[in-house]
Amino acid sequence: MAMSSGRRPFGLSLDPLKGESLTGFVLRLAHRLHISPHELARLTGLTEQDRLGRARASLSTRLTPAEIKNFAATTRLDPREVRAMTLEPLASRYPPAARSVANVRAGKVYSMHTDGWLFATTARYCPRCLAGDGSDIQNAHGGPWQILWRLPVVFACPLHEVFLEHLCPSATNRSTSAAEPNCFPVLPPPESTLPTAGLPRIRTSRPVGPAGAPLAHDPLHHHRPGPALLALQHKILRLLRPGGPKQPAQQYFTELILLAGLVMICWPRVQPVGTTRQLAEAVAQHLAIHEGTDSRPYRSTGAPVDAFACAGLLQVTDRLLAADDLREALSALAPEENRTRSGIPPTRHLIWDKNFKKHRSACSERFQHAADTIVPTFRRTGKGGLRLPSTGAGLRPEHIPAFLPQALAEHHLNFLSAIAPKMRRRSASVFLVRRARGGSLDEAAQFLGINPQGKRNGYTQLLNCHLRASGTARDFEQALDAITAELLAGPVIDYQRRREALATWTLEPESWQHLLARLPVLTSHRKPISDDRRRLAVSSYIWTRVTEGEPDFAPCPPHIAFDPALRAAWTRERHNVFHWLRKADHQPYYGALKPLLEDHARLLAKVIDRR
Ligand SMILES: [Zn+2]
Repeated sequence: MAMSSGRRPFGLSLDPLKGESLTGFVLRLAHRLHISPHELARLTGLTEQDRLGRARASLSTRLTPAEIKNFAATTRLDPREVRAMTLEPLASRYPPAARSVANVRAGKVYSMHTDGWLFATTARYCPRCLAGDGSDIQNAHGGPWQILWRLPVVFACPLHEVFLEHLCPSATNRSTSAAEPNCFPVLPPPESTLPTAGLPRIRTSRPVGPAGAPLAHDPLHHHRPGPALLALQHKILRLLRPGGPKQPAQQYFTELILLAGLVMICWPRVQPVGTTRQLAEAVAQHLAIHEGTDSRPYRSTGAPVDAFACAGLLQVTDRLLAADDLREALSALAPEENRTRSGIPPTRHLIWDKNFKKHRSACSERFQHAADTIVPTFRRTGKGGLRLPSTGAGLRPEHIPAFLPQALAEHHLNFLSAIAPKMRRRSASVFLVRRARGGSLDEAAQFLGINPQGKRNGYTQLLNCHLRASGTARDFEQALDAITAELLAGPVIDYQRRREALATWTLEPESWQHLLARLPVLTSHRKPISDDRRRLAVSSYIWTRVTEGEPDFAPCPPHIAFDPALRAAWTRERHNVFHWLRKADHQPYYGALKPLLEDHARLLAKVIDRR
């Protein structure tokens, strides 16, 4: 039967084996048909529009609908069977596959090589799977090359319970494993260009490596994966299986890959966590090889090709991810910690930060929140840019009082004894707002109405220096967490709305007269303050109570704000009145005034909140 495209279906074909990759299928079918894989690719239309490079690298990644149709027709397969042999069905669960598929779709067939967590030109393999399952068809043409073997997170064969191999058996010196292995059954080039390529051997034997030795051999790894590693491998395979929910898989692999990168950067710090000594040694050896041969930082966060080292790395990473307190688990990996206490080059962390920022939205809220607070330099809009707001913190910037209540400060910030209490309370609020809304500390201060008059907030820099020098940066972050939890547990108050409502407010003269009528005569021997000045001063006091603001930043009444002399008098008298109100217990006049002001503040707050 002639095809519309002019192609004829083969007289013979094969059924794809479970999980088989398209390239593997091409190899087996070519073997069966006694033609070269390249010839088969040509006859099925795989190399029609192209250049060899594409066929070699992207065959098993993605095919166009037309390619699938042609291939299915000539090989007598269902188009769905053809698509199932590519990476495309995995793309919705494994983000590096999605990126690679997108690159191929966009015609960027060469940039598909750049993802460190997808094997583009190499793959691992299970020698026992390749040896076949003993059936006639597998005895004749070999077992299947699994599409999943292109994923570095697949390090063991669950059927045979062995680690996957990556070296051709002829490469006997395993210490040379850093050199790029290439056992992947890429389509050999046409015989005319490279007559000595693997083609004749493929025709006459089971799958072979470039050196011509059969890949179906006994495992090279001396160790077998133990129950914990097999459980991890099963968990990973479950997440990759079609039919399950996609988002948890995407999030898991995004986080696993990001965190594995950080684990590699900080390796000696996390070595004792959750893996065996042999696996840890394999990881260390892998990292040492990278240090020695190629220190380009991006190399260091790609997956180890060696399944054994990769398994150790993933085991450590998975256990970190599963920690009850993720933030605590990540704390040893925080760049801040490492920058100040280890010799890790800052650029490695900066590159990781950038990568994290890029993939952050694909992570779970839990991971975002933990990593955001652990990695101080991360959430920025660009180099030297501003922080992006943290999600999942739950506390909105308007719910943060400008002057952290004293009780909270005493409860959580006493370890900052070197910082003046006033600065502790002010800074904590600024940092909380920065957490909630992103941006700079200066912007957070401005949001709170804390006005350093055009100067930078020196005190926050001072605090940062102190935290670093004293090694208490993490304590501070944890204190902010605890304060956040307490603020969230209390009544939700929109302090921003209160600040806005009172921006130009002063106590109405009638209300002031009303209050005065209830007070004893002022008996101070000091020069009495004029009634109106006292009215403005108590207005500031009410303002601090309603907005939970700091006395220093109470807004100056507009009608005196631009007169330096009046403003100075206002500042002075405000100080005096605040002083006496603090000592109200020993002063009948202020002792009587204070509760009246508190009552007034409560009423005023209620009115504003109800608006
Ligand atoms: Zn196997």
